[in-house]
Amino acid sequence: MKLVLRVCMLLFFSVPAVLASPGAVRCGKLVDVRTGKMLVDQMVVFDETGTITAVGAATSANLPKGVTPIDLSGSTCLPGLIDVHTHLTSDPNMNGYEGLGVSFPREAIIGAKNANKTIRAGFTTVRNVGAGGFSDVALRDGINAGDIPGPRMFVSGPALGITGGHCDNNLLPFEFHYKEEGVADGPWAARAKVREVVKYGADLIKVCASGGVLSKGDLPGTPQYSLEELTAIAEEAHKLGRKVAAHAHGTQSIKDAIRAGIDSIEHSSLIDDEGITLAKQHHTYLVFDIYNDDYILGEGAKVGMLPESIEKEKKLGRLQRENFRHAFQSGAKIAFGTDSGVYPHGDNAKQFAKMVEWGMKPIDAIQAATINAADLIGQPDKLGALEPGHYADLIAVSGDPLTDVKALQSVPFVMKGGAVIRNDAAAK
Ligand SMILES: [Zn+2]
Repeated sequence: MKLVLRVCMLLFFSVPAVLASPGAVRCGKLVDVRTGKMLVDQMVVFDETGTITAVGAATSANLPKGVTPIDLSGSTCLPGLIDVHTHLTSDPNMNGYEGLGVSFPREAIIGAKNANKTIRAGFTTVRNVGAGGFSDVALRDGINAGDIPGPRMFVSGPALGITGGHCDNNLLPFEFHYKEEGVADGPWAARAKVREVVKYGADLIKVCASGGVLSKGDLPGTPQYSLEELTAIAEEAHKLGRKVAAHAHGTQSIKDAIRAGIDSIEHSSLIDDEGITLAKQHHTYLVFDIYNDDYILGEGAKVGMLPESIEKEKKLGRLQRENFRHAFQSGAKIAFGTDSGVYPHGDNAKQFAKMVEWGMKPIDAIQAATINAADLIGQPDKLGALEPGHYADLIAVSGDPLTDVKALQSVPFVMKGGAVIRNDAAAK
């Protein structure tokens, strides 16, 4: 009886998220993210699998029988946004020593809260690059099963790193003998670690190539993994059909990671001209998290970040923004990633205005968070555009994000796979 009840409850709660019905959305305006054109009075039609079947002029739309379109004629539609660098299971208020008290199950629950905040902010897909205890795998699977609301997640599990490096944990003294589960030194240990995280559910591999800001005792500009180790990791991951994201602030590590064949450089803070040229030659995406500098310098001390972390950020923040502008203007491929979890989840879209302030047009920043991000994730035919064959992941805003990108900071309508997550727009 109890089991029957549980099965019934499961069916009841999973239906809306798992099974959609055919539907349509009428958009007053629609941003064509490939061309940057603003289209007017468009209809987006999708089927019961949550896949778009048609996009075109609303007046000539061929609607499936019985479908009444959701009326967003006063709004501007875009594809669901994508953030390729999140930490949904991290709480921005639990830093430094306070973070040591967070268990893996607790991390998963923190992740459930933040997954909801993130999708309600219009981010229907994220690439989560680093989480403890495979809490990100649990979160992804819970969302996919319809247990909790959240974005489509592509997850890395624990980040690979050297002993004592940015992706180890260096807060406790020797007698605790503590190390993070992603620590692996040497090419073969690193290959074994890739196999292990894939075994437990990782969609991609995250590796810490250089030092970092929010870690103790290391320097962001110095290399950690060697070229030999990075090459082994990239080779092993690609052999297993996984892409690799490398945390790299330092000039040398950025180049080593690109030469190793890694797919994206995270942070990219101290990239030089040679690094930019290499990124273009190797088609490597650069991800610059240029919003959170303001948050770390403004709020970091209050939320327990170590004094040394704040000092490191002071040295890096402005250089990273200048190098973002230079890399973009030099023609490097840029994907939108913010390092959410360092700053509060749900504020992801605040980075768009920074990207525009530092040299992009609004459409460039929007492309970074749609078609470019989809390409980096390896799903260019399913994500990042409102086109037949893509998931019906759609957001709507008031105003014109092509002239004022801050319009993306308030997203009243969110749909994922044809299922409406929030709709505060239709009445307006
Ligand atoms: Zn990160």
